[in-house]
Amino acid sequence: MHTLNRKEIAAYIAGKNDQELFALAADEKERIFGKEIYLRAVVEFSNHCNKRCRYCGLRSANSEISRYRLSRETILDAVQAVEENNIGTVVLQSGDDFWYTTEYLGELIKEIRSRYDIAITLSVGDRGIDEYAFWRKCGADRCLLKIETSSQELYSQYRTPEVFSDRLRRIEALKALGYEVGSGTIIGLPGMDLETSVNDVLFLTELELDMIAVGPFIPNPQTPLANEAVGSIELSHRVTALLRLLNPGANIPATSALSALDPESQQQALLRGCNVLMPSITPQEHRSNYKIYPGKNSTLATAAELIEAARNTVRSVGLIPSSSKGFSKRRK
Ligand code: SAH
Ligand code: SF4
Repeated sequence: MHTLNRKEIAAYIAGKNDQELFALAADEKERIFGKEIYLRAVVEFSNHCNKRCRYCGLRSANSEISRYRLSRETILDAVQAVEENNIGTVVLQSGDDFWYTTEYLGELIKEIRSRYDIAITLSVGDRGIDEYAFWRKCGADRCLLKIETSSQELYSQYRTPEVFSDRLRRIEALKALGYEVGSGTIIGLPGMDLETSVNDVLFLTELELDMIAVGPFIPNPQTPLANEAVGSIELSHRVTALLRLLNPGANIPATSALSALDPESQQQALLRGCNVLMPSITPQEHRSNYKIYPGKNSTLATAAELIEAARNTVRSVGLIPSSSKGFSKRRK
């Protein structure tokens, strides 16, 4: 475990010594996880959302995308493909969509738990703590809820009318419920600077997370941020490398946003401290409508092909795709 003070973190964030930082992060990743990379299959089951995050294409005000919801049967078919292709985790992700009631998702979780031996991760946004408690009882193992930025001001600006402290309270509650909890931030939203990234690194580390997802901002033409600049890949790599040094046992994905900008940058992230890849296996007819940001959608048809492509990405940089459930190695 490395200890770094604010000044040292700031120097790395400013790019003072990338080579050293990336080598240290690669060593730390290998010390904890060896050459293995965990795979998580993501099923994006609904693109309906009642929120208006200014950066995201699923925001309710976007009338240009066609909205879909997957039925219980379609979701279960996708999960079956996850197990058949030997992947240890499924991530159920959606917009904040209350059409899926507490009971609906609870039954779905129970059904997955009874049929398949895989870990279940929820990424369904700002639902009630009582709902998350119920889903935990039904068998959900993990939750992802990104804080998006460590700046309260930027949070209010980009997620109006949501409040930073509510999101934070939810993250803490999920931990208390016994979930493995993931959070993270977006790199390079307008108004963010290098100091924001230093703050993000310190803030995310203080949260003592099991998973930390950090990726560059990608402007979506169907949002108010359409004409803004794209987030920096380099900076994103620096932030995840620093997070690896400060959170050695955490699962840190090489995010899909990297791959949307430049597939090579995602491979590079696996050699700079990241240890997880999260291919989307959303059914092909809907995949292109899960348009959080552009460039996200693979044209491969089947779950088997998508998963094989992810395995090949891992192999192409000399690492080993793992079929395990990939629990966090953070010491509790
Ligand atoms: N509705 C849920 C989960 C789906 S959104 C939620 O908001 O928690 C999943 C993630 O997509 C968000 O946490 C955000 O970090 C990311 N995201 C949204 N728009 C983005 C963009 N334009 N560029 C990069 N990441 C984005
Ligand atoms: Fe909805 Fe999540 Fe997108 Fe915000 S980031 S608009 S909550 S899908």
